[in-house]
Amino acid sequence: MNAPFVSPAARFEVEVPPPVDASTRARLGRLTLPHGDVETPQFMPVGTNATVKALTPDDLRDAGASIILSNTYHLYLRPGHERIERLGGLHRFMDWDRPILTDSGGFQVVSLGDLRVVDEDGVTFRSHLDGSIHRFTPEHAIAVQEALGSDVAVAFDQPVYPSSPRSVVEEATERTHRWAERSLAAHTRPDQAIFGIIQGGLDPELRAESTRFIAGLPFDGLCIGGLAGDETPEQRDAALDVAVPLLDDDPRPRYLMGLGSPADLLEAVHRGVDLFDSVLPARVARNGQLWVPGGRLNIRNRAFLDDPRPVQDDCPCLLCRRFSRAYLAHLIRAKELLAYRLATCHNLTFTLDFMVRIRASIRAGTFPADMSGLRARAGRTSGGEVADKSA
Ligand SMILES: [Zn+2]
Repeated sequence: MNAPFVSPAARFEVEVPPPVDASTRARLGRLTLPHGDVETPQFMPVGTNATVKALTPDDLRDAGASIILSNTYHLYLRPGHERIERLGGLHRFMDWDRPILTDSGGFQVVSLGDLRVVDEDGVTFRSHLDGSIHRFTPEHAIAVQEALGSDVAVAFDQPVYPSSPRSVVEEATERTHRWAERSLAAHTRPDQAIFGIIQGGLDPELRAESTRFIAGLPFDGLCIGGLAGDETPEQRDAALDVAVPLLDDDPRPRYLMGLGSPADLLEAVHRGVDLFDSVLPARVARNGQLWVPGGRLNIRNRAFLDDPRPVQDDCPCLLCRRFSRAYLAHLIRAKELLAYRLATCHNLTFTLDFMVRIRASIRAGTFPADMSGLRARAGRTSGGEVADKSA
């Protein structure tokens, strides 16, 4: 299974492997990419339209982001990947000098496009912006990502919801395999890594088959797709317990696409996942939900209008350093734009700090013993919050 890397653009080193007693599959690693190093386990904030909504690149750095995800589908439609390429590539366009991973567009094509006709060659879809007709093939999805110039491109896949019937999952999984080979063949940029996507839904047989197939190809990293959708946490854990053990001797990073609540991240790290992305922390922040140790504050609650304390006492974020709960509660009720920036800074700081704590625990060799304390800090998970990861 030790597939050779196809590009010199990515190097992954496991610095602290899982303990031999198998009490956890959590591991500490370092992913070296053209624009910098990424310590794993790591969370990637999502910059859908070449911006993490409401934040400047400085805000992102202050929150502790070392890598972000940007959406191929959105940037292809607007402002256009060729325009971004003419303007010097995505890093220069958005003034972010650290690593960027672009997704393949597969998820958005299937979930956002009005009309979507999947055939063996690709997907025809109607833009959710203006109704115009477009077509994505594996070759085109790779060409768009090469034009954007991300550090990591992702193979084009056909995701389906975890709860889809077996026949639907099977057909999409097999097509994803053929598209993975075509994506690899189309990829030419030596300064860009490419990750493949494992599908297979919740069916253990299909998930195992897809894991073996994708891991058999010379990708730089392995995405675990088709989860963080409408499955239960138990179903997700079961799928990971099928896929990850098959990758025990595989030298590449594992990335679970679309997962974002701290409690979910913790359980997936425990099962051996290295990378995550989600719009969740930013989206719930804009709705007035602030993540704090042990739970959350709904800042729309009237009680906060008179609360002079910071959202979180020991938090170094822009919001907590300078402003009170009362001020944020006022801003969000008044629909002031600053509310979205401050709340997003906080939730991303909380999430990225949580990953720092997880990494410190793995490094110290105490992760299994620290799980209960980390679970308590993460608070409870709300499955409904993770269902929509589109934008
Ligand atoms: Zn804060």
